[in-house]
Amino acid sequence: MFAVLHCAFARSRFHALALALCVAAPVAFASGVLPLEQRIAEIRELNRFVPERALPKLEALEAEARNAPLAQRIEFLNQLAMARHGLGHHGQSFTLANELIALGREYDHAGALAKGFLMQGYSAFAQHRPSEAHRLVWEAEKLANTTDDIDLRVRAAISSGESHAEEGNLPSALERLQSAAALARKQGEPVHVVMALNSLVRLYAQMREPEKGFVLLDEALAAAEKARSPGRMATIRNAEYGLAIDTGQRERALRALQEGLALERSIGATKRVAVSLINLSDFYLKTGAYKQAAGYAEQAVAAARPLNDRKLDATAHLNLGQAYLGTGRLADGKRQIELGMAGYEEIGDKPELQNALVEYGLALERVGDLPGALQAYHRERKISNELFERRRQQAMLDLQEKYEGDKKQRQIELLRSENLIKSTEIDNRRLQQRVWWLLVAVFALTATVVGLLYRKVRHANAQLHEKNRELKQQSVRDPLTGLYNRRHFLEYMRALPAAEQQDNGGALFLLDVDHFKNINDTYGHAAGDAVLTTIAARLCEILRETDMIVRWGGEEFLAYLPTAPAGKAGLDEVAGRILAGVGATVVDHGGTALSVNVSIGYAPFPLSVGKQNLAWERVVNLVDMALYLAKSHGRNRAYGVRGFADDRLASIDAIEQNLEHAWRAGQVELSVVMGEREPLKAANG
Ligand code: GH3
Ligand code: MG
Ligand code: MG
Repeated sequence: MFAVLHCAFARSRFHALALALCVAAPVAFASGVLPLEQRIAEIRELNRFVPERALPKLEALEAEARNAPLAQRIEFLNQLAMARHGLGHHGQSFTLANELIALGREYDHAGALAKGFLMQGYSAFAQHRPSEAHRLVWEAEKLANTTDDIDLRVRAAISSGESHAEEGNLPSALERLQSAAALARKQGEPVHVVMALNSLVRLYAQMREPEKGFVLLDEALAAAEKARSPGRMATIRNAEYGLAIDTGQRERALRALQEGLALERSIGATKRVAVSLINLSDFYLKTGAYKQAAGYAEQAVAAARPLNDRKLDATAHLNLGQAYLGTGRLADGKRQIELGMAGYEEIGDKPELQNALVEYGLALERVGDLPGALQAYHRERKISNELFERRRQQAMLDLQEKYEGDKKQRQIELLRSENLIKSTEIDNRRLQQRVWWLLVAVFALTATVVGLLYRKVRHANAQLHEKNRELKQQSVRDPLTGLYNRRHFLEYMRALPAAEQQDNGGALFLLDVDHFKNINDTYGHAAGDAVLTTIAARLCEILRETDMIVRWGGEEFLAYLPTAPAGKAGLDEVAGRILAGVGATVVDHGGTALSVNVSIGYAPFPLSVGKQNLAWERVVNLVDMALYLAKSHGRNRAYGVRGFADDRLASIDAIEQNLEHAWRAGQVELSVVMGEREPLKAANG
């Protein structure tokens, strides 16, 4: 168990820093002569190793320093905090560190902040809160690296490397300590070189690479000598002791320890002396030299007593107890061990207590106190169980924390995926709505388009209908007069059933305007048109609605009367009416009154020869010949076929050849109806 102390110190940069001793300041203090800055610097060297002597000197400067410029104020507070820390005055040290941090914040001074955090880190470590200490040191390191204060940066790098080593991160520790050594070598300040190399040597011991540590020892010793620092040399001897013990070099280990102790005593580094005395007693306990062990342990107890360091004190008592047990002083030994264990109990260092009880039990067993040994084992078991329980609880807490964390994470993920599902659902619904709206819109659009198309088609149909009607009209009507055209009449006749043609009592009239050419020539074509439309209208008035009036050609009209007035004179009367009606018609043309006469040829239709009806074409032909006769006999008159002398059809051929001749020969009987007025031409001329 007693090597534990050595190990603890081997890992602790804080004690190493606090205990490092330097007497490289031989210049006498001449208060008031040297500038404040330099006086603080000199106290700083003393403060590293003998804080109890540095503190009164610092306190003497306090009034002056607190009113000094910022940089000196900061360094003064830093040294005062160091002194308090070295003396175990953790509360005061912590308060001073806070003051540094406040100054740093107030003046935005990274150096002051770094010093404050480093100081708080040392305090936390001394009060057994390593994790907090490491965090503070790393924070300080970051801030220190933003400054050009090499001393601060080297210290911060060393503390950072040692913190990494304490957390078991040896690669990072090596990197930080090597960079600290490089920085110190470059700066050329031997004190800083010793500090960095000392920490590196201890790291190599921890890394189980003692040969690398031995190599650095020589460089470190040379630097310490250059700095003329017995304190630093003592520090290096302690490091050498660690390496020698680890490599089984007992003689070298003992020599290093004794040389270190002598150096420490020479400068009055009381804490360091106490540590070396404990290590010496431990060394002799291990070799079974209980008498020497007891001697060094007694000195250690005496040295530790005034130091206000419970752990140091407890370890000294435990070593003394072990030594007494070894020399057979059972009661004294037990008392010392109880004192030591009470110290560990007081600071709550259960693992150390457990180690102490194991060694205690072994020692009692060795001296034959079996009941005592058993009791020690029971106590050890109890603590072991407590520790186990504590670790188990911690593990449970960790596990629970992890579980809670995982659970929370799972819940978050569940919630997230639920939200995802929900938002996807909403998206889907929106999409569906859109699809529906689109469908409705498409439907409405289609309906509108269809409606429009339907209307258009209907409109087109109506137009088509109208056009068809017009076309039909055009196809059956004459555009100028509105009367039926010749084609219509021909179609009508071809379609007329033979039975109707059999019917007696109908008639065909063919009219031709007399001297019509004169009208055109004299009054113009439009006047001619006006005359034609007027005659057409007049014919419609003269004839019956059921009669078919046709524009036969240019100024020729044909009228088909399905039923004509009975008797032979009936047709003559119609002819007379037409002659008179047309002749009486006056057309006003631009103030000029125009009137015309017509010549007419006519015949009954159907027209029978014997018992046979003539085809309608032959009848029309006969009528046309009668009209020609009317023209040639003077115009404004009508000639009608009344009957045939011969009942044979063959006689008709000769009549058709020359009507006038046939009429004179008595083959055909004709009616002649005269118009009442003189023809227009005669009137005009
Ligand atoms: P006639 O007494 O022998 O029948 O003498 P006419 O002048 O009436 O006969 P002719 O056949 O020599 O002349 C007919 C004229 O009618 C010739 C032509 O220019 C005219 N005509 C034919 N159709 C139309 C028409 O639609 N409008 C007009 N203004 N004149 C037409
Ligand atoms: Mg004519
Ligand atoms: Mg004519």
